[in-house]
Amino acid sequence: MATTATERPLFIDGEWVETGEWIEVRSPYSGEVVGRVARGGAGETRRALDAADRALQHPLPAHKRAEILVKVAGLIGRRHEEVARTISEEAAKPIKTARVEASRAMSTYTFAAVEARKLAGELVPMDAAQAGEGKLAFTVRRPIGIVGAISPFNFPCNLVAHKLAPALAAGCPVVLKPASQTPLSALLLAELEAEAGLPAGWLSVIVGRASEIGDVLVEDERVKLITFTGSGDVGWGLQERAPRKRVKLELGNSTPVVVAADADVDATAAKLAANAFAFAGQSCISVQRIYVERPSFDAFLASFVPKVEALKVGDPGDDETDVGPVIDEDARMRVSAWIAEAEQSGARVLTGGEDGGLLKPTVIADVADDQKVSCEEVFGPVVVVNPVDSVDEAIERANGTRFGLQAGVFTTSLDTALKAAERLEFGGVIVNEAPTFRSDQMPYGGVKASGNTKEGPAWSVREMTEERLVVIQR
Ligand code: NAP
Repeated sequence: MATTATERPLFIDGEWVETGEWIEVRSPYSGEVVGRVARGGAGETRRALDAADRALQHPLPAHKRAEILVKVAGLIGRRHEEVARTISEEAAKPIKTARVEASRAMSTYTFAAVEARKLAGELVPMDAAQAGEGKLAFTVRRPIGIVGAISPFNFPCNLVAHKLAPALAAGCPVVLKPASQTPLSALLLAELEAEAGLPAGWLSVIVGRASEIGDVLVEDERVKLITFTGSGDVGWGLQERAPRKRVKLELGNSTPVVVAADADVDATAAKLAANAFAFAGQSCISVQRIYVERPSFDAFLASFVPKVEALKVGDPGDDETDVGPVIDEDARMRVSAWIAEAEQSGARVLTGGEDGGLLKPTVIADVADDQKVSCEEVFGPVVVVNPVDSVDEAIERANGTRFGLQAGVFTTSLDTALKAAERLEFGGVIVNEAPTFRSDQMPYGGVKASGNTKEGPAWSVREMTEERLVVIQR
């Protein structure tokens, strides 16, 4: 894989800041160093918060915020291949998938610009109550204040965009802590925001010791909202420690799909094979558990498994690659162990396993619900397929998880689709499309252990603002 090793200091108060310590960013595929990033900690985070506090004293008008957001979208477009290569190199995401992520980041900034321009309160119908006669009342939406943002490794550009862009649209300065494994995309976005005219202080990016940076964001009263995407343990822990802040959590899932007997087997198998293994299953809504009504079970497997085996596994820098490695050795060993445990418990591994240090897309049939590959979030290229006697049973088993982010159903029956939409306990139900589907203007977020918010610029902007009521006696 051709690399473009990059050296990036931290971005604080509009300046690039070296700290004397460096973190090496290595390709999870080749182990090569693809960049070096300055390591920050509590001191740099406090300095960033001081700058954000100063920025907040000089609000940017909505048209200016929208203008910057549109420019960032344009700059990502202009440097699209560089953005995609950066994602691909640091995360080992197949380049064709990384290009899609770069395009989605453009979309996220574009939708955020729209929100900046239409951010408004509402008129309160005061004379609806006798006490309100003679009064005019309306609300205005005010920025909540400084936003602390923490992002994961798996979408190092677009999930950062989902925090930075709505915050700017809402008029909030941000201090961002990206994942240590994938900080280069976030620092590239900071460069593009600065180039687009973002004044100093509105964005700082601090890479480094997670708990040290997290502690400052939790403890500093100037941070009014923490937006976190990542694992549940860290996310819920932040919320417990910051009861007076808004702590908005986008967490994991164990994504189920219900395949009704009336669904088109080949079309369903094609969509699921193409989507279940994207970025080696390291998406929070990667298809993990497929429940197929018994009459279609054998036909589904006969169609699905060859399509999975046709996926090209290998170098993420290669245009043809569908599936690259998981993020690190620990993840590879964990996923392998979970596959072995399932096999030892009597499940059938139909295809997959390890190959030259890479995990191949793996399909396991007849897996008990208490196996880790069923009930935990695999976050690797593994799909479990089980037969069920009815759609009701499929829905019940799909719901038998602590998670609730997104679920899917394939059927040609409107009744079945609506029943599933009503009864699947998830933040989103996707009908006749893989539940890995996300478009960036959608309200996206989970219930139960999967989180407590919706992202998508229109929703995030609401979270990042407060309504102030104004009442006028006429
Ligand atoms: P993670 O280990 O929880 O890390 C996420 C972020 O939290 C990283 O920036 C990490 O920093 C930071 N962090 C770790 N410990 C911290 C602490 N004590 N205080 C403050 N920050 C801390 O998650 P991940 O492995 O990167 O991502 C995978 C998880 O994210 C999966 O569960 C996946 O489902 C979930 N996810 C959810 C969504 C969604 O929208 N719902 C989207 C994508 C991913 P370091 O990197 O420095 O450790």
